[in-house]
Amino acid sequence: MRDERERFLIRYAGDFAPFVVEKAEGAWVLTTEGQRVLDFTSGQISSTLGHNHPRIVEAIERSLRTGIHLNSWMVNEDVLELARRLAELLPDPLERSILLNTGSETNEVALRLAKAFTGKFEVVGLTRSFHGLLAGTNSVTFSMGHKGNGPLMPGSFAIPAPYEYRCPIRHCVRRCDMTCLDVGFEIVDQASVGSLAAMVVEPVLSTGGIIPLPEGYLSAAKRKCAERDMLLIVDEAQTGLGRVGSMFAFEQDDVVPDILTVSKTLGGGVPLGATITSAEIEQKAVDNGFLHITTHVSDPMPAAAGLAVLDVIAEENLVGRAQDMGRYLTDRLGELRDKYDQIGDIRGRGLLVGLELVTDKETREPANDLGAAVTAECLRLGLSMNIVKGDGSQRNCLRLAPPLTITTDEIDIAIDILDTALRTCLG
Ligand code: PMP
Repeated sequence: MRDERERFLIRYAGDFAPFVVEKAEGAWVLTTEGQRVLDFTSGQISSTLGHNHPRIVEAIERSLRTGIHLNSWMVNEDVLELARRLAELLPDPLERSILLNTGSETNEVALRLAKAFTGKFEVVGLTRSFHGLLAGTNSVTFSMGHKGNGPLMPGSFAIPAPYEYRCPIRHCVRRCDMTCLDVGFEIVDQASVGSLAAMVVEPVLSTGGIIPLPEGYLSAAKRKCAERDMLLIVDEAQTGLGRVGSMFAFEQDDVVPDILTVSKTLGGGVPLGATITSAEIEQKAVDNGFLHITTHVSDPMPAAAGLAVLDVIAEENLVGRAQDMGRYLTDRLGELRDKYDQIGDIRGRGLLVGLELVTDKETREPANDLGAAVTAECLRLGLSMNIVKGDGSQRNCLRLAPPLTITTDEIDIAIDILDTALRTCLG
């Protein structure tokens, strides 16, 4: 089977998992060889309700009977309803949505809206960011390196991510005071040709090492943008729809983005994303020529799944669950930190949690080999987690992001496996 995959599939993510999947259900993935794997990745951080939630399956079945796909300029009731429900969930003036498929696409559209609205073209991101791998978004994705993929979009700038545990400008000792944001913008101002259109940020830099932006950072970023007539784009591909213990992560800071993108979690596993902005921004962008007539814009089937996701989040109180289970998970990880010198930091929000492995708690030297060994051993024992890295040189942060429906019993199973894997790998 392995050979077949390597023969017929492009290796889009390096190696494939050492098994083939037969079925996924709830928090579990079942392999063709009968192994049950507890999925602390929620698929690709998308299956917030667990795999194959019956309500998503029902919604898709209903939608399939009423029309799978329409011409791009036609919309059905579900598409309208989803856009209306998103506007209701969001603060003013965020009310106009475009329904798309992937996270990359939502951010690509956000950048194009910002460029059309401002008439400018330069874009600022954070080091350690991930916003997608299409040409525009890849240019502001600074957590992966750009080897084999240049040149970037002209006018793409990275400013240092506010990484409290390893201050990128060696300034802060315990708490981040956001000097990196000031310094970053000073450098951008010098390098800019005077055409700054937007800044794009994740409220928790996930692929870059689970780095939550410090309190007040988003509002400070919005002020920096306003001073320069730029728009603030907040990318909630992973943090949106409950995962961090609020419906949207930006609500935890006193700020409203100019443009919000949600994806992954909105479809609960089905390709669905939305870029949402104000009537004012939409109007001017359209007047200035904004168009996005893609094949699957406003497709009915993903919209039906999105409506089911919103219903279940409300009915099962998954936002509150993310807080409770996030606290339980972090407490249990804290017990492991007391036991192992190699657990340097535990951070995150709600059920988006990172555990950083070090060789020594004092020097904070990243334990890269240990990160890879522990994730591999966990997978062998039946727990799937991602390893995330910042700038290509570190592979020592484990990401724990189970479905929001996870139970304390399942978290206990994961902790036991992680404990065993750490013990084994530390020999
Ligand atoms: N934004 C963020 C924050 C992401 O984590 C990702 C995917 N890892 C993307 C955008 C891109 O989404 P997609 O892979 O669906 O294009």
